[in-house]
Amino acid sequence: MAKRKGSSGDDRRLAIAEHAFERLKAADSPPTPRSFEVWFSVANGDVPALRDAVQSIVDTKGRVDEQDIEALFEAHIAPRSFAAHAERTSRGVLAEIDHVMEMIDLALGSSAKYGESLVSLTNDLSGTVDRNRIRDIVGALVLATREAAATNKTLDARLKETRNEISTLRETLEAVRIEALTDAVTGLANRKHFEEMLVKWIDQVSIVRQPMSLIMIDIDRFKHFNDTFGHLTGDQVLRLVGATMREKVKLKATIARFGGEEFAVILPDTTLDGARALAEAIRLGIMGRELIKRSTGESLGRVTVSCGVAQLTRGDTVATLLERADACLLLAKRTGRNRTVVESDVIQDDGELPEQAVA
Ligand code: GH3
Ligand code: MG
Ligand code: MG
Repeated sequence: MAKRKGSSGDDRRLAIAEHAFERLKAADSPPTPRSFEVWFSVANGDVPALRDAVQSIVDTKGRVDEQDIEALFEAHIAPRSFAAHAERTSRGVLAEIDHVMEMIDLALGSSAKYGESLVSLTNDLSGTVDRNRIRDIVGALVLATREAAATNKTLDARLKETRNEISTLRETLEAVRIEALTDAVTGLANRKHFEEMLVKWIDQVSIVRQPMSLIMIDIDRFKHFNDTFGHLTGDQVLRLVGATMREKVKLKATIARFGGEEFAVILPDTTLDGARALAEAIRLGIMGRELIKRSTGESLGRVTVSCGVAQLTRGDTVATLLERADACLLLAKRTGRNRTVVESDVIQDDGELPEQAVA
């Protein structure tokens, strides 16, 4: 469709864009595409929660900096684009289903019609027939067969087209599914995926009676790191922690970002000792890396992590296993950080974790 220059839709969008740019400048926001997208959406007014969040930042700080823009984008714009993507894909699937249904109707109609022709010709043959009659019947038979063959050809071409479209849709659906299970910052499994896998593994290892362990990891004093070097550099650290975990855990495991600066590893077929060794390898791996700011080459020092490790026992649920690993993590924090606490280190005679380990 040809674009009409200066249509009222364009005029409105131009006015919104100008307004967005004015607000971006007034709030001293960075002149980046992402920042503009946030301000455009604010000016457009289509996401009330975003407008309110921006207003509250402006009211408190008077400006909306790069960290705020990142956080606003992740919270209000990224989920919408994901939802829109999913919506477009599901609409495509529905259209394709309609298309296939139409073809089935056509195929059914065409074979029914052909069948009717054959029945009526057979009936004609059952009476007395002379040469002319046979010629007419064969002529009609050829015609009906030709029509059926032509319809089949059309159906064939349409089926091929549909098969290609369905395979494209399958790929898109798979990408959407993976996106829904992945943490955007680190590329690790997200919490939803982690919880699903934990339920699955608990069911599975309970049946085959294999050991299974869980490591919870939390970056030490990360708030201070963020406050000193900024959120974007903090995100680089999250990626570094994720990459170190991937590098150290070679087993069949689920490595996830559990939330904020917390990570988790589900280790099927692994005892407490095996899990302790892995947690230590991860902890030492992270501690061993000096952080360098890419843009300036400046050294940002090192970050450390604390780990809590628990093993699945009979009668455990997702909640009880998580609680015990978390209690160990808390104990690691309370006893100095940058360490791994394993539940067998702290279990008292009564089988309970010591009180200070319980949140
Ligand atoms: P502790 O050693 O007790 O764990 O201290 P902490 O500062 O790490 O813990 P706290 O829970 O007080 O603060 C967690 C901080 O993690 C707050 C926030 O600055 C940071 N954080 C959480 N999520 C993100 C994120 O997605 N990106 C960045 N850069 N920082 C995050
Ligand atoms: Mg934390
Ligand atoms: Mg922390």
